[in-house]
Amino acid sequence: MKNKKISKILIGTNNPGKLREIANLLPKKVKVFSTKDFNLKSPNETGKTFKSNALIKAKYFSKKTNLICLSDDSGLEIDVLKKKPGIYSARWGGKKSDFNKAMQRVYKELDKKDKEWKKKKVSARFICALVIYWPNRKKIYSLGKVSGKISKTKKGKNGFGYDPIFIPNGHKRTFAEMRKSYKYKIDHRAKAFKKIKRFF
Ligand code: IMP
Repeated sequence: MKNKKISKILIGTNNPGKLREIANLLPKKVKVFSTKDFNLKSPNETGKTFKSNALIKAKYFSKKTNLICLSDDSGLEIDVLKKKPGIYSARWGGKKSDFNKAMQRVYKELDKKDKEWKKKKVSARFICALVIYWPNRKKIYSLGKVSGKISKTKKGKNGFGYDPIFIPNGHKRTFAEMRKSYKYKIDHRAKAFKKIKRFF
């Protein structure tokens, strides 16, 4: 059976960086709502995986609004830190989502693990799980990854989150040094979105 194309959707995130990027991935003809339009707070992310947390958000926001909802859960995995911060990526920024604090914590944990880490390649990846949840309880999942390494210093002013310390493989610049329009084309969210764009 052919899927009916989605013509309006709620983007289930309270993170302005993600809202901008996800809205940008959708075709212009799709009417986009944000959690701000409904004054909605985010639910607790009690899942143990990116996928389960994305589902918690998509389901919660869809139930609150009776709209189809697209949510993501994403984060940075650093191999030598046993894949941390992972699903705790946002929480490393504290209550105020202070990304500088989160990046300082990455450097502190790397120092603790290995004083010589700056001489080595610290491999890492961004992961994004996307979920679309319909009011009739239908749901679909998609996962996107982008591999790279941790930069020895923070570089660049664009983007959000851990962008200033992540250099994707095949590039010399951090995500925060790239134009947003370029980063949006190559990152984990874009890769996950490619797999579900047929719904729009
Ligand atoms: P959550 O998915 O809302 O739990 O938050 C994921 C967290 O991962 C964000 O707050 C950022 O700290 C980080 N993150 C996810 N995607 C990106 C990205 O594209 N660039 C930089 N940081 C990201």
